[in-house]
Amino acid sequence: MKIQADVVIVGTGVAGLFSALNLPLDKQIIMLTKADVQSSDSFLAQGGICVLRDENDYAGYFEDTMKAGHYENRKESVDIMIRSSREIIEDLVACGVEFEKENGEYIYTREGAHSRPRILFHEDITGKEITSKLLKQVQERDNIQILEYTTMTDIIEAEGICRGVYAVNKAAEELELHAEHTILASGGIGGLYEHSTNFPHLTGDALTVAKRHGIRLEHLDYVQIHPTTLYSKKPGRRFLISESVRGEGAVLYNKAKKRFVDELLPRDVVTKAIREQMEKDGTEYVWLSMEKMDKTEILKHFPNIYKHCLEEGYDVTKECIPVVPAQHYFMGGIWVDSYSRTSMERLFAVGETSCNGVHGANRLASNSLLESLVFAKRAARKITAAYGQKEKERK
Ligand SMILES: Cc1cc2nc3c(=O)[nH]c(=O)nc-3n(C[C@H](O)[C@H](O)[C@H](O)COP(=O)(O)OP(=O)(O)OC[C@H]3O[C@@H](n4cnc5c(N)ncnc54)[C@H](O)[C@@H]3O)c2cc1C
Repeated sequence: MKIQADVVIVGTGVAGLFSALNLPLDKQIIMLTKADVQSSDSFLAQGGICVLRDENDYAGYFEDTMKAGHYENRKESVDIMIRSSREIIEDLVACGVEFEKENGEYIYTREGAHSRPRILFHEDITGKEITSKLLKQVQERDNIQILEYTTMTDIIEAEGICRGVYAVNKAAEELELHAEHTILASGGIGGLYEHSTNFPHLTGDALTVAKRHGIRLEHLDYVQIHPTTLYSKKPGRRFLISESVRGEGAVLYNKAKKRFVDELLPRDVVTKAIREQMEKDGTEYVWLSMEKMDKTEILKHFPNIYKHCLEEGYDVTKECIPVVPAQHYFMGGIWVDSYSRTSMERLFAVGETSCNGVHGANRLASNSLLESLVFAKRAARKITAAYGQKEKERK
């Protein structure tokens, strides 16, 4: 079946949705998702979204991002992300997203490797709050159509230019989606791992396709392991215990219930310390204790984590929980420039599937929702400008 659109977007997480919302209203947009619209990692994000609080924090935020990334980050991208952060938060608020406030002022939380609290949050379900509100806006737009359970299998390439994608739907029908511009927003690679916090259907499909067409890729070995996921013998997705829990005072214990690491060091450093401790102790996990934290604060800030742990048999207000590192995020991906353009004409990549260099070798906590949104908007702007240019030439 052949379908014609102006823009085709692969993926309905924050990167795909925000790209769609920033494209012109008179363009026909088709979005695909491999699963249902709610099954994206964007819905799972717990901790929050970073923002530049004020000009005095620019240097600190920049340095924290670079240091966490082992100074392998692209400085231009980091600067763009930080400078665009307030505008993005305003966009989100205009879409109906609510962040925690006290006396009418935003409150900020902190996670590992941040020199200062600069993370906006909504309980411990920030991703759901943001993504569901963006999704609602998209569903209200007449010019955007979402095809669920439709998997992109390849791109359509003609004379080195991307002309859309091939896909297959739930009824096993093969689709040819022709478009002037294509945006890959298909998320990470966690589905390729046995232990991951990601949805299992996120298997880096766009990367496989990109490799097949000789599209430039970058840092394929830069995979982030999250230090603290709830230990379980059950198969499937690992439940994340957000870093902001440690930011708000939770501590890590070894087998003898003694602290063994500074919990707020960057993720890769804490992960290494946990692995070494597990080996020393001969255990499959270490303990995370929230016992000294204020119970009201736990129930208010982390209701989802509290509820999930209770369902697994642990009352976090009274006892330690077993935690273990698991695959979490992919810093590498399809190489893109600062407007999210890939090395192939008319093909863009945004969100976790792309690599614009913001995260370097290791992502700073709560930078990925922001990065996805900033660079999705830039891709949409570039496409909008291309239509404007075409219009001018026609006149
Ligand atoms: C448990 C968890 C907690 C997190 N917490 C935070 C946090 O607090 N702050 C933060 O900044 N970041 C956090 N992150 C990271 C962040 O959520 C993700 O990096 C970000 O949401 C990625 O957005 P995305 O739009 O690129 O991809 P996703 O939201 O993963 O969306 C990918 C989309 O692509 C679709 N897709 C994939 N392959 C195909 C295909 N072949 N054909 C069609 N569709 C396809 C999927 O169905 C899905 O719709 C967290 C991640 C996890 C897993």
